[in-house]
Amino acid sequence: MLFNEFHSRIRVEGKITAMKPIHIGTGEDSTNPAQVDAAVLKDSEGRAIIPGSSLKGVLRSRIEGILSSGIDGWRSCNILSKDSCTQQAAQIKEAFKEKEKVLKNQKTKVDERDADRKFRRLLQEEYIECCKEIYENSCDVCRMFGNGKLAGRVSICDMYTKDKINTERRDGVGINRDSGTAQRGAKYSFEIVPAGTEFDFLMIAENLDEKQKMLLEIILQMLKEEDISVGGIISRGLGQIKLSAITRTEINRDNIADHYGLGKKEASNV
Ligand SMILES: [Zn+2]
Repeated sequence: MLFNEFHSRIRVEGKITAMKPIHIGTGEDSTNPAQVDAAVLKDSEGRAIIPGSSLKGVLRSRIEGILSSGIDGWRSCNILSKDSCTQQAAQIKEAFKEKEKVLKNQKTKVDERDADRKFRRLLQEEYIECCKEIYENSCDVCRMFGNGKLAGRVSICDMYTKDKINTERRDGVGINRDSGTAQRGAKYSFEIVPAGTEFDFLMIAENLDEKQKMLLEIILQMLKEEDISVGGIISRGLGQIKLSAITRTEINRDNIADHYGLGKKEASNV
């Protein structure tokens, strides 16, 4: 099931609540002593943001952890290994580029009026084969979440608070990694979004097969059961979130015509 054909689109909306304070930093340390060292990510209107990519990354590694424990019929690659899906996909893409060169050579040798059109058609066929091969070679985690060479099936929009929020300031102490003790002079302060803060949640899942639908249910279950934490300083118990008020809509081949007001679907010939 590839993206060039439409099968289904599941839209999950809901509310993410911070069960514990959240710190999602801007990644910039302030040099102004009046400011906190690590500020919370906000938009120009002062609304706090949980980037969809952050949550997706957390969910991906949780699913990776579950599937790599060796469950029959499921596969998860090690992204750092030489035979990861990304590495294999890179080789498949290289092979495609070689085929493209061959086709180009053939085209220049042929003196036909429609040589260019034929070249484009053959190249497109090769490209679709290349995409299929990459998808079929990929593990269940990469198929669902994507990798550097493959688009994933789920996307999560950036989550914003409804209004400008009042953040709080916390103080922390730097810990020496070797001795495990507090490091002298390593005091720092960081900003947090208070517990109870709510964010709008929107996840889109496209063309899921049966296995991917199971993964979607696991993801939603983990989010509902407060089993997921986002942001930094998680080791201090920050970042726990909960998904609630879930609404789910699905557009598929059976209801798409109705959904967009295109009239009734033609009866199938099968
Ligand atoms: Zn993989």
